[in-house]
Amino acid sequence: MDDLKVLLPEKDIPERWYNLAADLPFQLPPPFNPATKSPLDPSALLGIFPKALVDQEISQERWIEIPPEVRDILRLWRPTPLRRAARLERALNTKCRIYYKDESVSPTGSHKTNTAIAQAYYNKKAGIERISTETGAGQWGSALSFACNVFGMKCRVYMVKVSYNQKPFRRCLMHIWGAEVVASPSDQTKAGRHMLKQDPHCQGSLGMAISEAVEEAAGDPKTNYSLGSVLNHVLLHQTVIGLEAKKQLEIIGEKPDFLVGCVGGGSNFGGLVFPFIKDKLDRPSLRIVAVEPSACPSMTKGVYQYDFGDTAALTPLIKMFTLGHNFMPPGIHAGGLRYHGCSPIVSALLDKKIVEARSLHQTGVFDAALLFAQTEGIVPAPETAHAIKAAIDIAKDEKQSKCIVFNFSGHGFLDLGSYEKYLHGELKDYPLPVHELEKSLGELPKV
Ligand SMILES: *Cc1c(COP(=O)(O)O)cnc(C)c1O
Repeated sequence: MDDLKVLLPEKDIPERWYNLAADLPFQLPPPFNPATKSPLDPSALLGIFPKALVDQEISQERWIEIPPEVRDILRLWRPTPLRRAARLERALNTKCRIYYKDESVSPTGSHKTNTAIAQAYYNKKAGIERISTETGAGQWGSALSFACNVFGMKCRVYMVKVSYNQKPFRRCLMHIWGAEVVASPSDQTKAGRHMLKQDPHCQGSLGMAISEAVEEAAGDPKTNYSLGSVLNHVLLHQTVIGLEAKKQLEIIGEKPDFLVGCVGGGSNFGGLVFPFIKDKLDRPSLRIVAVEPSACPSMTKGVYQYDFGDTAALTPLIKMFTLGHNFMPPGIHAGGLRYHGCSPIVSALLDKKIVEARSLHQTGVFDAALLFAQTEGIVPAPETAHAIKAAIDIAKDEKQSKCIVFNFSGHGFLDLGSYEKYLHGELKDYPLPVHELEKSLGELPKV
């Protein structure tokens, strides 16, 4: 059997999403209402999300049907290939087998379309006309713009200012799909104006942009809000990645020893690994590795506590590994990994030591990205390169022949500005801003 590129036929696009909540060996801490400091009534979310997604958010059903209309669009790029990085293995002179699930083949170049299509579909069905959202590097904004365009809806994207300026072509992509793009913090919302008054040069953060998008959706009955990561229903939609990968590995007779993914909010990581968590519980030697930037290290330097999902403290409190909702990460080039918190399910898995986390500096990450591009031929997104670097480190450390599978969350064709900086020696590593971190941890809500 050829293992360089394992392809599945179209009929093998999963028909159901896998809901890990049904199989967790522990109770997930519920979200809290910040006003009452008691568990949140899910109906409080109906002002900004359609009921179908709120139901998925709290569902305990193991399998949830993917609507045929959604599957029909997923067919544009799914099933995605599972590729073996054989030329990279040779360059590393490793005995390990390295595979990657290639989510870069989607229309917008990342895994984010998997949930964007599902979310736009449920909003459209609920009679919503417009979706507001935030975006960091622009991957989520472009995925949702595409999805809204598919279903004939309007879309407004608050884009973190540092990326708005660093990534003009992502902005253009969103315009191609008819979305409106606003640099955040902006003067269009109360939260944005408040931030600009405090710091007119604020470069923005995902937490800030979320505040603006949520504020807008809460104020308009025909506008809903959509989040590209973190929430349970988002990770649910991403499980098509792991379900397909599992089948592909079975076809070539492989069992993973390591599963690796980069983590911003945790969606591509969760999407790959959730369908393998039961295997991990049965076979503890399976190691599941989450990778984050050293400059924004929520899992390795954060605390596991209740916190807001956004800077302006508009969202419910969720228990997660967090750097504090006021943490302003340095302007590293993996914009999609600059989030102060992390998915509550991924956080709980980390807390229970079912998954492990490591952090990496960006110059080493770009070294790995270049080696990958030069051996395998695909230029990875800087976010993805975190997973690549970790997979390479594991392959170098392991003296025996192990099977390593990582999630190739997206390509870097619209991140070439960052690569140019790297090639000119202009990228540097940011030490963790310790004072910033102490300050933001000191501002965590008391629960
Ligand atoms: C958004 C993004 C990430 C990080 O988000 P997660 O929700 O943690 O997956 C990683 N890789 C790419 C290519 C992205 O676009």
